[in-house]
Amino acid sequence: MFAAEDDRLEVVGAAGALAEEEFADRACSWQGKFPWENLAMLADHGLVGVNLPEEYGGRGMDEFTAMAVIEAVGRVCPDTANALYVSSMVSPRAVDMFGSEAAKEKYLPPICAGDRSFSIAISEPAAGSDAGSMRTQVEEDAGDLTISGEKIWVGYLQQSAAAMVWTRFPDGNLGTVIVDLNAPGIEVLERYENMAGQIQTHFRMDDVPVPAGNVLVRGERAFKRQLRALNWERLGSATYANAISRCALENALEYAREREQFDQPISEFQGLRWKLADATADLEASRAVAYRAARRAAERDRVPDRVETNVAKLYSGQVAEEVVSEALQVFGARGYQRGHPLEYLYRLQRSRRIAAGTDEIVRNTIADQVIEEGLPDLF
Ligand SMILES: Cc1cc2nc3c(=O)[nH]c(=O)nc-3n(C[C@H](O)[C@H](O)[C@H](O)COP(=O)(O)OP(=O)(O)OC[C@H]3O[C@@H](n4cnc5c(N)ncnc54)[C@H](O)[C@@H]3O)c2cc1C
Repeated sequence: MFAAEDDRLEVVGAAGALAEEEFADRACSWQGKFPWENLAMLADHGLVGVNLPEEYGGRGMDEFTAMAVIEAVGRVCPDTANALYVSSMVSPRAVDMFGSEAAKEKYLPPICAGDRSFSIAISEPAAGSDAGSMRTQVEEDAGDLTISGEKIWVGYLQQSAAAMVWTRFPDGNLGTVIVDLNAPGIEVLERYENMAGQIQTHFRMDDVPVPAGNVLVRGERAFKRQLRALNWERLGSATYANAISRCALENALEYAREREQFDQPISEFQGLRWKLADATADLEASRAVAYRAARRAAERDRVPDRVETNVAKLYSGQVAEEVVSEALQVFGARGYQRGHPLEYLYRLQRSRRIAAGTDEIVRNTIADQVIEEGLPDLF
């Protein structure tokens, strides 16, 4: 259900206030570590998984609200926004959309309580953008399911009890299952540290049992159904990117007002004023695209428009790269020092043009859709 405006403002206001009071001190210093303390505090205030059903510990609100919460927290602490994005817009969103009652009861409450994360495993060593060529396979024997294959670049695996795994089924179609990460047959092959300090895992599954209730989608139309959840993931990614931009820009504005050169604040120089104005224009446009897609989806049975979603994903990543880079420029040498917030945000934002679909793949999706079916509705 689309949340009432008052309820939304209350929840978003509470998240923003908590972030300012509690998260500001350590913001931009997590270096990829998982911000458990912050997630626990948000959970104590009922602010994790606000778009998940109340019976599983969520708030039963819409994704528009979840995105606003991510942004309200992320303008202060982008790492916490990332944890919230994963908890509300990625695997748990799909479990809520497609999961069995048993799966929802088992997997959603620990997410809303801030106790656990929930990974998503799509990529394989030989199947990145070309997800259709993945080799991970579910086998079925007298109704019992097992899964085998390798997944790579998986985020938050150490923090998760389960992963939503994309796989092929015996009928040849792709679908998704939930894999318990403590089940027999799982082996971690390698852990990589990315340029923001986050750990991404390569793991193997050998005949790992999958209870029937852990199948999320399978069958002929499974891939299409799964794409609905993927659209929410991409809108969440756009929101997270916009939050990083906002954090960078707020830092730059504060510094530009304080720092003096040639006997005046550097914010008086036309060259910097236009930089700040352009960054503001780009960011506000990027936010507007993402929120329009989410608002229209909330009004239309929660089905995000494919073009609007992918435009938001594409644009927000490019805006983040530009805005964070220009914000760093405002700081001069300070912004380039190891440990400075802008240096960290510069590394953090770069993932947004790769994760959840590269710019190139997202462009392909937009082009396919507008060429085949035209542009999105005007109103
Ligand atoms: C920070 C981060 C977190 C991630 N988290 C996860 C996760 O939790 N779970 C998970 O499963 N994966 C995760 N990924 C992996 C991510 O989904 C993949 O990196 C992405 O899908 C691209 O796959 P690839 O890296 O193998 O690149 P490739 O597919 O090998 O692509 C290499 C280059 O070729 C381009 N390219 C490929 N095909 C085309 C085409 N048809 N047209 C034009 N250009 C093309 C790509 O855009 C890219 O520039 C994460 C990645 C990052 C950076």
